[in-house]
Amino acid sequence: MTNSSVKGPVAQPGIMDISPYVPGKSNTTFNGEIYKLSSNETPLGASPKAIAAFKSLSADLQLYPDGSATALRNAIGDRYGLNPENIVCGSGSDELLELISGAYLGTGDEAIYTRHGFLVYPIAIMANGATPVIADEVDYTANVDEIIAKITDKTRIIFLANPNNPTGTYLPFDEVKRLQQAMPKDCLLVLDAAYAEYVTANDYEAGIELVATNQNVVMTRTFSKIYGLAGLRLGWAYCPPQIADVINRVRGPFNVNAAAIAAGVEAMKDVEHIDKAIAHNTKWLAWLTTKLEEIGIKVTPSVGNFILIHFGKGNAAQADEYLGNNGLIVRAMGAYGLPDALRITIGSQEANERLVAVLSSFMKDQGNA
Ligand SMILES: *Cc1c(COP(=O)(O)O)cnc(C)c1O
Repeated sequence: MTNSSVKGPVAQPGIMDISPYVPGKSNTTFNGEIYKLSSNETPLGASPKAIAAFKSLSADLQLYPDGSATALRNAIGDRYGLNPENIVCGSGSDELLELISGAYLGTGDEAIYTRHGFLVYPIAIMANGATPVIADEVDYTANVDEIIAKITDKTRIIFLANPNNPTGTYLPFDEVKRLQQAMPKDCLLVLDAAYAEYVTANDYEAGIELVATNQNVVMTRTFSKIYGLAGLRLGWAYCPPQIADVINRVRGPFNVNAAAIAAGVEAMKDVEHIDKAIAHNTKWLAWLTTKLEEIGIKVTPSVGNFILIHFGKGNAAQADEYLGNNGLIVRAMGAYGLPDALRITIGSQEANERLVAVLSSFMKDQGNA
């Protein structure tokens, strides 16, 4: 007997409602130096010591990695004064966000993120049949009262990118604490601190203290941004012991590859390289913000390694094309519900200077049109 209405295997509820993640563009037809400023990658590259560790690993590719990434968890623990038992590594922090969602979300549950929050959250939420709930922002910034207003007895996770991508804004530690205090104890706060290393504001705290003093907070971090290891896929989570135990049960036994572990250890230890990256970013973030405002572009104040810039209705697409035609690849924001904005990574000195020059002529053309 055949049932002609069944065409084949059917995905779990929610999965076909997911809009697939679209990464930043990486090409243009421009004939000259091309600057990719669309994925928040570091212009400084990885630590030379991390690159050397990666290369030296090539002689041992037949070996499985250490499934518990002990050397890496120890290096992270040493750097931040954390118990390595409470650290879990993942193939990018994206994998950790997915593992956490898989472990704590199911059909009928709700998870909250903010209006212009990172687009991996709705994917991770819907992949597990749960319902994404959006809390409004104020001035492109997460707002604790708006988030609290969305909490119901079905809320299982609140995702907060701090600082947030793509807006570049952040919540001070006091506000994150206030959110945690208002949450039910069985609801998990995921603090995604992918850009924490770049933040120089005194009132910012990535999440270490909140994780250490509560049972329902997890902080995720990445090696993809300031460490310059995006291609290797490496992230880590600092968790209360029970949550580390849960993630360790559901993760793949060798979820972090050997090259990532080897390079990650050296990257974590190379404080000098990180300090250089922070200094570069701090200088050029301020410079770009000032220069772009001078030519009449609205810039959302950022503490990350990127800026969100705003154009008049319909102009962002033209600016995107103009930049691309001049060798500058930036991120269009339609998928984030910001069709009149572009997100631009802080690049090398040459990239930043070129960006300002190209946007200046774009703005002049606009004015003369
Ligand atoms: C880039 C980014 C990450 C990092 O993802 P990886 O999987 O570690 O490369 C996580 N969260 C946010 C908000 C990001 O922008």
